[in-house]
Amino acid sequence: MAKVYIDKDASLDPIKDKTIAVLGYGSQGRAWALNLKDSGLKVLVGLEREGNSWKVAESDGFKPMHTEDAVKNSDIVIFLVPDMVQRYVYRERVAPYLRDGMDLVFAHGFNIHYKLIEPPKTVDVYMIAPKGPGPIVREYFAKGGGVPALVAVHQNYSGKAFEKALAIAKALGATRAGVIETTFKEETETDLFGEQVDLVGGITQLMRTAFQVLVEAGYQPEIAYYETINEMKMIVDLIYEKGFTGMLKAVSETAKYGGFTAGKYVINEDVKKRMKEVLDRIRNGKFAEEWIEEYNKGAPTLVNGMKEVENSLEEQVGRQIREISLRGKPKS
Ligand code: NDP
Ligand code: MG
Repeated sequence: MAKVYIDKDASLDPIKDKTIAVLGYGSQGRAWALNLKDSGLKVLVGLEREGNSWKVAESDGFKPMHTEDAVKNSDIVIFLVPDMVQRYVYRERVAPYLRDGMDLVFAHGFNIHYKLIEPPKTVDVYMIAPKGPGPIVREYFAKGGGVPALVAVHQNYSGKAFEKALAIAKALGATRAGVIETTFKEETETDLFGEQVDLVGGITQLMRTAFQVLVEAGYQPEIAYYETINEMKMIVDLIYEKGFTGMLKAVSETAKYGGFTAGKYVINEDVKKRMKEVLDRIRNGKFAEEWIEEYNKGAPTLVNGMKEVENSLEEQVGRQIREISLRGKPKS
C-alpha cells in the first residue's frame, strides 16, 4: 500500500514566511486562495485580466493584481489558470520575473510533463493535485474536512520541495483526508486516461447510448432516462461508500446475474483493446499534440460537442426528471 500522509505528517513551517501567488481565480484558484489564507498563509491573487474572476476575488476580500505584479512580489507561484493557457502565462508573465529559489506549483502535471513549460534548474517545481472539483475543495475545508490530493516533485532545487508540497496540501485541507505521492508522469497520464475512457468520456457515452437504444426501441424517454441515466448516481454512491461488493449486495439477484453476464458482453475485450489504444496516445504525446492544435483553432470540437449534448433528447428529458428527483431529495 502507498504511504498516506495525514495532518501530523505535514507542517506549515517551510512556507509560513513565504508569499504565495495564486494565478487564476476559477474552480481551483478560488478554493486554494481562500483555504491557504484561512490557514494563515500570505496569499496574493494574480490575474491576466479584469474580468469576472477579478470581481469575485474582490468580493471575497482579496485585492487582485496583474499576474506579473503577483509574481514579482511572491516566493511561490501556483498555476491555476486553464492548462492550455498556462504556458503563455508562464512565458510572458512569470519567466521574466523568476528569481532563483522560487517555487512553481501545479495542480495537474500536463504542462510540465509534456514540456510546454520548461523551468530553469534554479527553482523548485512540484504539484498538489486535489482529487475533486474546486468548489468541493473549498466547501469541505470550510466545514472542517478536506479533499484528498496527490503530491509530486519534478525539480528539487532547495532540497525541501516535498516538505513544501505537503505543507501546501495541509493548508488546503488535503491532509485532513490523506495525501499520496505520485510523479508528474503518473498523475498526468492516469488523469487523462480516467477522464477520457471512464469519467467524462466512457460513462457519458455509456449512459447516452443505453438511453438511445431504449428510446429507439419505442420506450418512453422519461422511463429510459430513469433507468439508464438517473439511477447511475445511486449505484455510484454505493460503490463510493461500500465498494463493488457493497453495491452488488444492495441490488437484486436478477440484477447481479444480468449484470455479470451482459456487462462483460458489452464491455468486452475489444473495448479493453481500444482503451489501451487511448492510453498509448496519451503516453506517446499524440493526445496532447492533438488537443493543443484543437485549442489553438478555437476548440471547435468543444463548441460543437456542447451544442450536441445540450440539444439532445436525453438532456431535454433530463431537465424534467431532475426536477422530480431533486424534489424528493432530503434537505441534507
Ligand atoms: P478554470 O477554468 O476554473 O480557471 C479559470 C481561471 O482562469 C479564471 O480566473 C479565469 O479568469 C482564468 N482564465 C480563463 N481563461 C483564461 C485566459 N484565456 N487567459 C487568462 N486567464 C484565463 O480552471 P480550473 O480551476 O478548472 O483549473 C486550474 C488548474 O487546476 C488546471 O491545471 C487543472 O488541470 C487543475 N485541476 C482542476 C480541477 C477541477 O476540478 N477543475 C481538479 C484538479 C486539478 P476570468 O474569470 O477572467 O476568465
Ligand atoms: Mg482531469
